[in-house]
Amino acid sequence: MLPPAADTCASRAIGLGVCRGVTIDLGLLAGLSLVVLLDGWLIVLSGPLVFDTHEMGRKPGAERTFTRTIEAPAEMGYDVYAVPEGSTIELELRLEAIMEGVLATGTFSARAVGECVRCLEPIDEAVVVGFQELFLYEAPSSQEEADEEDHVLEDELLDLEPVLRDAVVLALPHNPLCGPDCPGLCPECGARLADDPDHTHGEAIDPRWSALSQLAEQPVPSADQSESDIASDPSKE
Ligand SMILES: [Zn+2]
Ligand SMILES: [Zn+2]
Repeated sequence: MLPPAADTCASRAIGLGVCRGVTIDLGLLAGLSLVVLLDGWLIVLSGPLVFDTHEMGRKPGAERTFTRTIEAPAEMGYDVYAVPEGSTIELELRLEAIMEGVLATGTFSARAVGECVRCLEPIDEAVVVGFQELFLYEAPSSQEEADEEDHVLEDELLDLEPVLRDAVVLALPHNPLCGPDCPGLCPECGARLADDPDHTHGEAIDPRWSALSQLAEQPVPSADQSESDIASDPSKE
């Protein structure tokens, strides 16, 4: 059922991307036969996140559903918090043909890894991200209607990767916290305050005030005395 990888590359003339896609699909065939049974379209895909909509025939109402386990592509999130490249993503997808194009609706579950911006504690959480995006059959002809955000089918192929990337960026917080009330780090010793909420450093004084406290310990001439000193000095007049 699967043509040799070399044939696929040559016939589709897309090159390396297709070859890599075929390799990944072969991996799926070996490891997850259930996926193959549910999804007879694997042979035409050029990657695990590319879906062929030829069979839907642009007929409004036509629908296909997919359940797929894939490896996370790169750049799924922020520097401080992201779905690690190559980690497992469980994807549920429904494709639905409407008048203008194919509506892709679904969710994916993944792991998001990063660190708390307040206390630097590692964060490793399961996230479920929803998305819905319309893929147009044709790019809008007039310049005014065209939008940079538009997704357009290419040769009836739908590339879901940018949709997942946008969805995860919207779903993940920019400033991840280990918990909603993370107290952060002790400004004096750097200890994680959540581990030691009653943290104290005795009577320690802020260094900015320590100079003042030294002054306070020295005897200061009284106000009366200094006034009388000035008054008794005729040279100052
Ligand atoms: Zn924290
Ligand atoms: Zn401390």
